[in-house]
Order: sequence, then C-alpha cells, then structure tokens
Amino acid sequence: MAQKALVEELRKIVGEKNVLHSDVDMQLYQYDACLQERRPDAVAFVHSTEEVAGVVKVCNKLGVPFVPRGGGTNLSGGTIPIKGGVVVEMIRMNRILEVDRANLRARVQPGLFNLELGTALAPLGYQYLPDPASQKAATLGGNVAENSGGPHCFKYGVTTNHVLGMTVVLPDGQVATIGGKAPDTPGYDLTGVFVGSEGTLGICTEVVVRIMRLTEGVKTLLAIYDSIEEGSESVSAIVAAGMVPATLEMMDQLVIQAVEASIHCGLPLDCATVLIIEVDGLKDDLEAQTQAIVDLCKAHGAREVRVAKDDAERAMLWAGRRGAFGAVARLAPSYLVCDGTVPRTALPQVLRKVAEVGKKYDLRIPNVFHAGDGNLHPLILFDWRDAEQKARVMKAGMEILELCVELGGTISGEHGVGLEKIDAMRLVFTEADIHSQVRVKKAFDPRDLANPGKMFPVPAEVLSAR
Ligand SMILES: Cc1cc2nc3c(=O)[nH]c(=O)nc-3n(C[C@H](O)[C@H](O)[C@H](O)COP(=O)(O)OP(=O)(O)OC[C@H]3O[C@@H](n4cnc5c(N)ncnc54)[C@H](O)[C@@H]3O)c2cc1C
Repeated sequence: MAQKALVEELRKIVGEKNVLHSDVDMQLYQYDACLQERRPDAVAFVHSTEEVAGVVKVCNKLGVPFVPRGGGTNLSGGTIPIKGGVVVEMIRMNRILEVDRANLRARVQPGLFNLELGTALAPLGYQYLPDPASQKAATLGGNVAENSGGPHCFKYGVTTNHVLGMTVVLPDGQVATIGGKAPDTPGYDLTGVFVGSEGTLGICTEVVVRIMRLTEGVKTLLAIYDSIEEGSESVSAIVAAGMVPATLEMMDQLVIQAVEASIHCGLPLDCATVLIIEVDGLKDDLEAQTQAIVDLCKAHGAREVRVAKDDAERAMLWAGRRGAFGAVARLAPSYLVCDGTVPRTALPQVLRKVAEVGKKYDLRIPNVFHAGDGNLHPLILFDWRDAEQKARVMKAGMEILELCVELGGTISGEHGVGLEKIDAMRLVFTEADIHSQVRVKKAFDPRDLANPGKMFPVPAEVLSAR
C-alpha cells in the first residue's frame, strides 16, 4: 500500500517515533483556521537540515507532495495538505544558533517561536521587531513564509525587511544557502523571493535575521472615541503631521467588549473605537512626541486619551490587543478572519462598507486592525455547523476583499493567499501577472510537490507541465 511504503521510507530518515500516520493523528493535521480540510498521508517531525532534505528526497522518489508546518497559526489555509502527502513538522527545529551583537544579526532555526527570540534577546539589550499578534505560537519559519507583519511593523517594516538570508531545502532535496549576514549579496535577491512564498518553493531550515538595540524609552497611549470616523481621522492626521509612532492599532466596540469580558484590561465598553498608539525612541524626545499625539487625537474627536503610567499598564493594553482574536471566539462558535488593506485615508469608507456587507448577508462583523498600515481584519462571525451560513460567510469575505481593491488596496496585508484567497488573486493580477509568478514556482519546483494547490488560480496541470 502506498502509505505503508511512504511511512517505511520516512522512518529510515527521521526514525520510527518521528513519523505519524494513524487515523487520529491524520485528523489532527487535516485543518488549520481555514474552512477547508484534507488529511495528509503522514507527518514527519524533523530535527535538522539533513533530515528535511532526506524527507523531501523521499517525497521526490515517491512523487508525493510535502507541506512544511510551523505553529499552524496561519489564517489562509497554508498548512492544509490539500493534495495529501507529507506534513513536514518543523516545530522541533527551534534553537537560536547564534546572536552576533557586533553585526546586529541572529541565526535561528525556523521552528523557534517569534516571542522566544524576543525573550532571549531582551536581557542582552536587543530585539527582533516583526511581532505578529500570534507571536507566542507562530514560528520564525511561518513568519518568513507568510511575510508576517504585526503592530510594530508600521514603523519598522514587515518580515522581509528583517530577513537577510536563509538555508533552504529546495523541492528536489538539494540544500541551498541564499543571502547571508552581509548587507547585500550579488545576483538575484532570492531571499526576497522566498520570503512570502508560503512553502511553495521549498523549506527554510535556518534564517539569518536583523536584530536591533532595544529602544531607550516607550510610551503607550489609549485614545478613546465615540465614532470610528474620528479614530480613523486621527490615524491619518498623526501620519500627515510627519510622526511615525511604533504602532497605530485600532479595535471597534464589539471587539472591545469581547476583550474586556475575557482579559479585563480596563477598556471602556461604551465607546465606538479605541486606538492603541505606542511611541518609542530616545527618552528625551518621548514626552514631546506623546503630547503632540495626545493633542492631535483630541483635535480629531478623542473623548479621552490615557497614557500608560508604567510597564504593568502598558502590558495590560497589549494583552488586550494581542488577545483580541482569542477573545472574539466568545462571540460565536466560529469566525473567518479577513485580511485586506486600503490606503489608510480610506479606512472610514471601507469600515462603513464592511458594515453594509454585514447587513446584506445578515452577519455580525467586528473589526480589529493595524490602522497605521491600513490593514483591516473584519472578523465574520458564524456557526461552522450551518452550511448555509458558511456559504454566506464566504461570499461576504470575497466582497470585503473586492471593496479593498476598489478603494486602492489589496487582498492581503499579512496573512498570505494560501487556499482561501486563490480566487481573489484575480482581483489584483492579470493572467500574464499570474503566469509570471507561476514560472517562478516552476523554475524551483517543476514537479509541483512543494505545498501544491496554494496561491495560484491555475489548474494543477499547468503547474506540473514541463
Ligand atoms: C490570534 C492570531 C493572531 C495573528 N496575528 C497576526 C499578525 O499580527 N500578523 C501576521 O502577519 N499574522 C498574524 N497571524 C497569522 C499567523 O500567525 C502568521 O501567518 C504566522 O507567521 C504563521 O506562523 P506559523 O508558524 O503558525 O506558520 P504555519 O501556519 O505553520 O505555516 C504558514 C505557512 O508557512 C509555511 N511554512 C511554515 N514553516 C515553513 C518553513 N520552515 N519553510 C517554508 N515554509 C514554511 C507553511 O507551509 C504555510 O504555508 C495571526 C494568527 C492568529 C491565530
């Protein structure tokens, strides 16, 4: 039987105890946050680049697809083995290999959780900036593959701005080094190609990242508004005034209520929206920056602006923001996280339209967003057991992405395309655009074995044709 042969071959590479294949285990690996599911044929836990290469070579020998998996927190179906095959479980490759303070670099394995890198660097006086709200459970490999963002990316940029090089196992099992510690590498920018490739070009087994000194001081503000428009206008006003806070995050009333019920971080339940704004930099400059932002928020309708008095208050505000997705789970059995962007000046308009979409499909849609980047996350509440509701959710989600594109934005701010947004790719790319990307995929992966069925709205035959 094909699965039996596959399992035997995988055991030779990673050992018997590191291969899963039972029905129950396969059920556990058949889903992530996406609405589609498919069981793998086997799961292999890997511990080194050599083991990853060995597993990929087995897949090549047997013509079986493989799907790398980190924390499984992606929100677009990236880790679902939609064509079956082997899930390559990266979570045990979780070591920090080197912290090179003199050159401001760290070299890490891809299964390391984002937060663990930050926690290890902080006592040394350093930090790694991209900070997805999922950082407790999301791995560096997943961050690289999704080109993840996070609250601090407004000022500091997303993952691609912080990754300098990688070791990768290519889809035929060869090991390659791309980029490196140096500020620039000659030739094609293959690091740039791999970041955001969602496991479709191979498996990253080591990452070189940029680290930065911890900032001297931080102030965190909570601006409270009675209307979403005033909150959004404050965001535009702050940026237009030439200020670049480290974060500009927004939550609407439904999210605030869910967060308060779950985390009790002191958010007012009766307001329409709050902004969490953080400024960082030299201590001498912080008071002036903070005051200027307080004044701007008030001038644009904030009914109150609170400044966190100490680290404990600051941590509470962040616990609320980072816990928002989890807290919203209180409101309904399921929800679909949409991820789109618009120019930040279009935020009030897009939010009005998102509310209209909610009314049209009779669905509740709370909103939480990286407002500084114009990156919105409408969370469409529903009950997954109700097939009719699920169909309405899919339509509403697509309509929201169409709105983002109409308003000059795009179909993903940070969560990638995966399975979920394959059709939405046609909203932003022409046939020729898509085929130029398909040609890149085929150059790396002519047999279409690396995370097949993701990203591209073209038939599988096109991807595997020689
Ligand atoms: C509560 C919550 C909050 C979130 N907040 C944010 C946020 O603020 N910003 C943001 O950008 N995202 C956010 N996300 C989405 C998600 O956490 C990120 O996309 C994250 O980077 C995924 O990491 P992961 O380790 O879970 O990857 P996985 O989900 O395991 O994998 C994601 C993709 O990467 C591929 N992959 C994984 N490891 C490798 C590897 N070593 N080599 C090659 N490909 C690989 C997989 O095949 C898959 O396609 C959030 C998710 C949740 C649940």
